[in-house]
Amino acid sequence: ATPTALLVGTGRGAQMGILIRGPEILESTRRIDTIVLDKTGTVTTGSMRLIEVVAGPGEQADEVLRLAGALEDASEHPIAKAVSAGARERFGTLPSVTDFTGSAGLGVRGEVEGRTVLAGRATWLADQLTIPPELQRSQGDSERLGLTPIFVGWDGRVRGMLVVADTIKPTSSTAVNEMRRLGLTPVLLTGDNRQAADAVAGQVGITDVEAEVMPAGKVEVVKRLQREGRVVAMVGDGVNDAAALAQADLGIAMGTGTDAAIEASDITLVRGDLRAAADAVRLSRRTLTTIK
Ligand code: ADP
Ligand code: MG
Repeated sequence: ATPTALLVGTGRGAQMGILIRGPEILESTRRIDTIVLDKTGTVTTGSMRLIEVVAGPGEQADEVLRLAGALEDASEHPIAKAVSAGARERFGTLPSVTDFTGSAGLGVRGEVEGRTVLAGRATWLADQLTIPPELQRSQGDSERLGLTPIFVGWDGRVRGMLVVADTIKPTSSTAVNEMRRLGLTPVLLTGDNRQAADAVAGQVGITDVEAEVMPAGKVEVVKRLQREGRVVAMVGDGVNDAAALAQADLGIAMGTGTDAAIEASDITLVRGDLRAAADAVRLSRRTLTTIK
């Protein structure tokens, strides 16, 4: 392809809300056969809602929500926003947090009212606190419904569980259809639980699902597909997607996502609409065939 034609292609992309880092990117876009899609914030809106607070045996649901809300107020994760908004709705103001640390794809920790409070995924908390069997059962129940349960604990024990629900973007299903029409195999990739992942995959028409992937595991999934001989595009929005976006043959970031994801990517979809990922592949193929 001539440099001029590629420049025209990138210009057309910009008009469509597809920002392409450089004209040469269109060449690699054309060869893509597999498209890995992050779930939260990419296929789903990432604006989660808090739908339930479950207290452990002998615990107060209000206390679980109040301390978790205070802690999550310091985090930018979609789960955190749902929890802090839910807590603020219930209590108005929330206690302050010190010594806050977030572990991408795992959970958060901080000091609230003299306690070290943790909130995050079950496997991460299980290493640090005891989980009462009652709450383990509640976890299974909410996962079976396709929801995302988060454990909250302090002083050696998990004290309660918060359940959040995500919403699929209205355009995701159409986007997946368009990807298939272009001959791409879509793969859903998430740190979330298996059932929540399968529920989203089922609703948008994806059959290949990689769930419960630890943050460092996302890049491994991309590498494995590449070893199988696939040419892989990865679409993501989170800090925990950055390594996978950089490893992919083509990294595509949601413009609505984090700076880390955008910096690691070749293409940014300004409006965060997944259909633009299919548009980008179509655009590069058209640009390059017109020239030949
Ligand atoms: P995804 O891969 O779908 O974008 P993440 O990798 O960001 O999801 O998160 C994976 C899991 O880590 C979440 O489902 C949740 O259990 C846990 N987690 C991550 N961040 C937080 C947080 N701020 N508070 C509670 N749990 C969290
Ligand atoms: Mg995400």
